[in-house]
Amino acid sequence: MNNIQFKSSEIYKEIINNTMMHSIMLISNDTEMLDIYANNIVSTMFCKAEEKPCGVCTECQKIAHKTMVDVLEYPLKGEVLKSDELNKLLDTVFELPFEHDKKVYIINNFSSIDALMQNKLLKTLEEPPSHAYFILKVDNESVVLQTIKSRCQKIMLPKLDTISLQECLNNLGADIKLVDEAMSFCGGSLAQAKQYINSPNFLNNVNFLLNMLQNLKKSWQVVDYASVLYTKKDEILDILHIYLKILQDSTYLALGLDDLITLKTHTSELKFIAEGYSLDAMSQMIKDVNLILEKLDRHCNFNSIIDEFLLGILEDKHKWPI
Ligand SMILES: [Zn+2]
Repeated sequence: MNNIQFKSSEIYKEIINNTMMHSIMLISNDTEMLDIYANNIVSTMFCKAEEKPCGVCTECQKIAHKTMVDVLEYPLKGEVLKSDELNKLLDTVFELPFEHDKKVYIINNFSSIDALMQNKLLKTLEEPPSHAYFILKVDNESVVLQTIKSRCQKIMLPKLDTISLQECLNNLGADIKLVDEAMSFCGGSLAQAKQYINSPNFLNNVNFLLNMLQNLKKSWQVVDYASVLYTKKDEILDILHIYLKILQDSTYLALGLDDLITLKTHTSELKFIAEGYSLDAMSQMIKDVNLILEKLDRHCNFNSIIDEFLLGILEDKHKWPI
């Protein structure tokens, strides 16, 4: 995220004016955005320069390299806070900071910890010592206890603007075509775009789904498409996201909402899909994905889920013809 965007935010002004709350809840389904925003907040809190956050002073550098002793991050990225880690954290809250007049606890994946542990933290959030601040990173607000929410300043993060997104992705040094394709499919999420770029099968999956949506017409074809999807259990969430994006843009195309389409390089395929399915059929196919996700969540038999997914497409197509 560029600095101009952050510096115009409410939280930035509050940090500068020293009026920020002790508990901040950052909310976004883009986990990369959560990292960038949390980093901007703590850098602004500790930065020694006139124009904060400068990015170059010792404090900003330590924060960028995660070596700042008064910024404590729990747990490691991608992991969920464990009960004994939380106990350890709570034990240290009342200890004075090492080098500064304040210290910050950043809690990753906060929405993945259970209600019992959230409650344990609540007491501290209610009466924190004056030197302690908390930043909770939340990607699913619905599972956070109301009592926790009421103790925090909630910040819904904006989506990364296209230019910043492009900049972040270009820095990864990936092939330009891959970056462009990931950008068009990621729905503005840096985390999703990075995942696509790091997936060796992303471009293949895009072609597979475009092909499937254009050519799947008879139930005997289900076997062929299913046999490919059976082997892609690890990638199924990416595949469903790609599928949804194709359907969404095909719908926009059918409605003449061309400005909303991001899959510009696939316009001819989208046109073909939009001519093959009615708007009602596509709308139902989009809804059906939620059922598929639920079944995946409940660990139902994977191959049966795939069969159901593919047969569902034919059923919707048949039920709501063009
Ligand atoms: Zn600085």
